[in-house]
Amino acid sequence: MKKIGPIINGEELDFTGGDTVDVINPATGEVIARQLCCNSECVNEIVESSKKAFNSEEWQRMSPAGRGHCLTRLADLVEAHSEELAGLELQDTGKPVSQLKNSEIPLTASIVRFYAGAADKIEGRVKSASTGTFQFTMYEPYGVVAGILPWNYPLVNVAMKIAPALAAGNAIIIKPSVDTPLTSVAFAKLCIKAGIPKGIVNVALGKGSSTGQSLIEHPDIKKISFTGSTAIGQQIQRQAVDQMKAVNLELGGKNALIVFADADLDKAANAAIISAFVNAGQLCVSCSRLLVEESVASEFQAILKEKVNKLIVGDPNNEDTLVGPMITKAQYETALDYIKIASDEGCKVISGGKKMNLPNMAGGFWIEPTILSGVKADMRVATEEIFGPVLSIISFKDEAEAVKISNSVMYGLSGSVWTTDGSRSMRMVKALNTGIIWVNCMMEGYPQTPLPPHKMSGTGVELGLEGMMAYCKQKSAVMSYDNKATVGWNL
Ligand code: NAD
Repeated sequence: MKKIGPIINGEELDFTGGDTVDVINPATGEVIARQLCCNSECVNEIVESSKKAFNSEEWQRMSPAGRGHCLTRLADLVEAHSEELAGLELQDTGKPVSQLKNSEIPLTASIVRFYAGAADKIEGRVKSASTGTFQFTMYEPYGVVAGILPWNYPLVNVAMKIAPALAAGNAIIIKPSVDTPLTSVAFAKLCIKAGIPKGIVNVALGKGSSTGQSLIEHPDIKKISFTGSTAIGQQIQRQAVDQMKAVNLELGGKNALIVFADADLDKAANAAIISAFVNAGQLCVSCSRLLVEESVASEFQAILKEKVNKLIVGDPNNEDTLVGPMITKAQYETALDYIKIASDEGCKVISGGKKMNLPNMAGGFWIEPTILSGVKADMRVATEEIFGPVLSIISFKDEAEAVKISNSVMYGLSGSVWTTDGSRSMRMVKALNTGIIWVNCMMEGYPQTPLPPHKMSGTGVELGLEGMMAYCKQKSAVMSYDNKATVGWNL
């Protein structure tokens, strides 16, 4: 069986002793690898290695452009190893091969390439100053930062943490989800191949409650960039206060795709289907609430039903497959529970709604793409994050009601508006309380467009140049050059 270990100083830790956790292929339920987890001593060792690498002459003397060259080589290596990375991710997550090859691998490379070009574009500001002084504000890396990842997009997420952190000059320790560690280890190995000094990218494998906690509690980690659930994000933010660590939290969502009667209904329906069912709905920005204007609700529902029936769910190795399994057993059970809750709340299942038993994949975590109608805005399925292939249709009377329903949940991650009325588009962008809003499109704009979560979806920002600046701290300097500057405020 394949064995994987933490990456410390460019080396994969040997497989002797220590706690292990098996890695499961969610399409089949089979064990595909065994990982060696980090206890607190191992985390201490990793942090020491990261500190040493960060302070090394090699890293400190590397120019920003030099860091950019390393990242360019890394992006090239992601493309050169696309088969291997896609194979690992497919086994680890059950994602369809077409989704990996056509979307996630190219996106991973483009995120790394974006930050390769950004590394030497970090600019401070010279301030207006009284005669005799020169004042400026500059940006510096935090030092050693930690990137804690969820299981839904392991490869894309590891790139989203490593590339901006390194572009800004930090050393980073990655803690992947214990459910999906394979591509984090493979990616860290590519970092070495790309010429990134050993120890600048380390990987701590293990559970959140032990390995993750040890990272959160370590005094030499100056910033935590966390992507995961709102509950764990809140816990991390509370704990970070004790050591005044900087935190970036990208958390849950309960996003709305809003279709007005004047929209191109066919395109809007395609967007609704892709948004709800890509990655089997395990996507933070996916729109699991579909708000449709009353006058076109039944017409739109019919279009949706036709399209959902065409989705090919099944063997991830098949090039035509569009929807794979749930990535973890726990999430599979959660999503099935929500379908039951929806029925109990009086919703109607108009498509799917059941677990699937696929030939040769009986142990896998498969759920039919599910559409619910008759959903009220305050029901649990309409307010809580399901993180599975479940789309809830809610109808609305007018623009004001669409805004009210959309903003009524505790989350504020993304939204998508479909209308041909330009003025309404602008009003909706202004009115919706989410970090990103797509108008007549969905999930466009990566990697240059930042994703700044609102409300309980988090704090801080990822992606875009803003996502790199989030890995920098500021420093101001006031320098006297004529010896006349006084102590105190020179107003
Ligand atoms: P999770 O919160 O359970 O775990 C996320 C990571 O945190 C894992 O690596 C886990 O091991 C670790 N962790 C858990 N407890 C910890 C602790 N006490 N200390 C330190 N680390 C700990 O989330 P998940 O189930 O892996 O992922 C699904 C969630 O992630 C969903 O809520 C989804 O919306 C969210 N998500 C958000 C975004 C975004 O950009 N906003 C992107 C992807 C996923």
